[in-house]
Amino acid sequence: KMPVPSDIEISQSCIPKPIDQVAKEVGLFPDEVELYGQTKAKIQLSVLKRLQNQPDGKYVVVTGITPTPLGEGKSTTTVGLVQALGAHLRQNVFACVRQPSQGPTFGIKGGAAGGGYCQVVPMEEFNLHLTGDIHAITAANNLVAAAIDARIFHELTQSDQALYNRLVPSVNGVRKFSDIQIRRLQKLGINKTDPMALTKEEVNAFVRLDIDPGTITWQRVLDTNDRFLRKITIGQSVTEKGFTRTAQFDITVSSEIMAVLALADGLDDMKKRFGRMVVASSKKGIPVTADDLGVTGALAVLMKDAVKPNLMQTLEGTPVFVHAGPFANIAHGNSSVLADKIALKLVGKDGFVVTEAGFGADIGMEKFFNIKCRYSGLRPHVVVLVATVRALKMHGGGPAVTAGVPLPKEYTEENLQLVAKGCSNLTKQIQNARMFGVPVVVAVNAFKTDTKAELALVVQHAKEAGAFDAVECTHWAEGGKGALALARAVQRASQAPSNFKFLYNVELPVVDKIRLIAQQVYGARDIELLPEAQEKVALYTKQGFGNLPICMAKTHLSLSHDPEQKGAPTGFVLPIRDIRASVGAGFLYPLVGTVCGVCGVRKKTSFAFQESLSVKCLKLGE
Ligand code: ADP
Repeated sequence: KMPVPSDIEISQSCIPKPIDQVAKEVGLFPDEVELYGQTKAKIQLSVLKRLQNQPDGKYVVVTGITPTPLGEGKSTTTVGLVQALGAHLRQNVFACVRQPSQGPTFGIKGGAAGGGYCQVVPMEEFNLHLTGDIHAITAANNLVAAAIDARIFHELTQSDQALYNRLVPSVNGVRKFSDIQIRRLQKLGINKTDPMALTKEEVNAFVRLDIDPGTITWQRVLDTNDRFLRKITIGQSVTEKGFTRTAQFDITVSSEIMAVLALADGLDDMKKRFGRMVVASSKKGIPVTADDLGVTGALAVLMKDAVKPNLMQTLEGTPVFVHAGPFANIAHGNSSVLADKIALKLVGKDGFVVTEAGFGADIGMEKFFNIKCRYSGLRPHVVVLVATVRALKMHGGGPAVTAGVPLPKEYTEENLQLVAKGCSNLTKQIQNARMFGVPVVVAVNAFKTDTKAELALVVQHAKEAGAFDAVECTHWAEGGKGALALARAVQRASQAPSNFKFLYNVELPVVDKIRLIAQQVYGARDIELLPEAQEKVALYTKQGFGNLPICMAKTHLSLSHDPEQKGAPTGFVLPIRDIRASVGAGFLYPLVGTVCGVCGVRKKTSFAFQESLSVKCLKLGE
């Protein structure tokens, strides 16, 4: 057999169909398609209205066992499955995937377009810029950041009247409140619409957000891993009169704007979520929102194109939506609700939409169900759980691996004992999926060093653990043809009864929700809230955010909080260090253990990118 060429060689040897042809094939009208060159297009949201009476297709989510540095192949399997269903079995299909961040693309993770003969093409278009959505998020995020510091500065240096003139300028002798300003006044208990009718005290309350700089949670962002911007001092120009403060740059995809984009179900909903985003507290402890800053409208305008899903295609010409790419730790790690909704309408009743959830089933899938499906109202039919022999060997106690060094022989030679032991992780993740009442198909993604006996052992374990079915797949080396058994299993599973249910009711107290996830999904004995987390529970409950769903920021490398604990650890107490809120996106995110989401992003931008250590070099121009 010929060896499989590199990802970029495969991608560049493919001549993609003109994207308007792909759009036509899936039933889009020309006026619903905005072309961005030959291989990418944005799809207008109006298509949802046109197809509102069309029944949805089958909704399939791809997840995996607990990731290891050996790579599992969720993206590759997502693409392989739609290629099998669409190009070989001639079903209507759509894959919905996340847009990768440029940071990891140029880091150790490499691109994220899949791999081998299962890729979204052209891979360099997919991995870089796409249609500018991430750049729009950078612009929107930094507009909020600039507004926060400008506001603090102006409030410190100007009188109430000067601030009022700036906020409610007199145009031809007439002052007018904007809708956002009227909302702010109502929040302050001032039910007036005439700007001339405010008392001095009311003007004072209106113009002063009185932001406590120590409570600012909103950071500047950029889409490059630029380590020297992780901690900076801002305000050093003389024009800022000495008002300096320490700040930081995070990676763009960690911005709440990204999480909002992924969860919004239309332009209006996106705008409402933007307005609710909390960026800091006032000195009295009142949350300060984007609405309070008066930037909501500007954010919506900056994001008006980004809200439309991007159409691309696989190597075998099946359609793909690439839309949104929130982190899977401090955010929910799933592609957009809008892309899934449009795709489900486009494929119709008998078609399939295959969407991908980041990290392992304990994280990406749990958040897919409890956060994404809760907000979208969509109900999943099948879970595809990706496992590899190599990763299971690591869960069974196989040695650590180092990037750039040949793999230890445990991973390249038959070792049934390690595989069998590591299947504890597979079993737990299958149970996790079944807990939500959805049938699970296990895809054993075969690597060329796996032996027949090893692959068969994983299949057997998966079936014993309650999977609806388990199959070996060779799509990485063979394209869609190699995922035909998987596609057929998914078709069968989609006919099986699915009794989807959430793990928790959002109205439960915050602590109970966290404990349920820790005990049921991770296998923890209990949770332990450190003092900061306890304070936040009290604060958010008081502020009225206690009924938001929970988005755990936990290491993806273990079911527990300790990345070294492989397999399926039990009996541990999960420490909750702190809790943060993404009020606009609509979740609370507890920071679990010592590896915390925000520090991870701050200290080591690669934390969330190590879903796999596969060194896929994107060699542009070669
Ligand atoms: P995930 O989505 O789980 O992070 P990807 O699908 O991005 O994983 O795959 C990670 C890496 O592993 C990619 O470089 C991909 O080409 C490679 N890979 C996936 N499956 C196989 C396989 N069966 N054989 C060899 N390499 C594979």
